[in-house]
Amino acid sequence: MQLDRSLTLPQVQAYVQEKRVARHLVMPVQDVVLHLAEELGEVARAVRKGDQENLREELADCLFFILSAANEAGIDLTEALLRKEEKNRNRFGA
Ligand SMILES: [Mg+2]
Repeated sequence: MQLDRSLTLPQVQAYVQEKRVARHLVMPVQDVVLHLAEELGEVARAVRKGDQENLREELADCLFFILSAANEAGIDLTEALLRKEEKNRNRFGA
């Protein structure tokens, strides 16, 4: 699968799974979450330094690990977002 702007979120989630397997990055969800926490720290450092290019990369790393965690946990992130946004609409009225 090629990654481009036309992909839907489910397709991006499937792309990430394909790459995790190809790059031998499949690991338990606990380990994925540790990597995500590390990447989030890198986001914080990029923000602190005002490094926009690095921030762009680190946010992309976070997205990769968020989608990886969802894959490892068997969660369809699109479905999860739809459900949570329904709750949020009820809570915030918007
Ligand atoms: Mg990184």
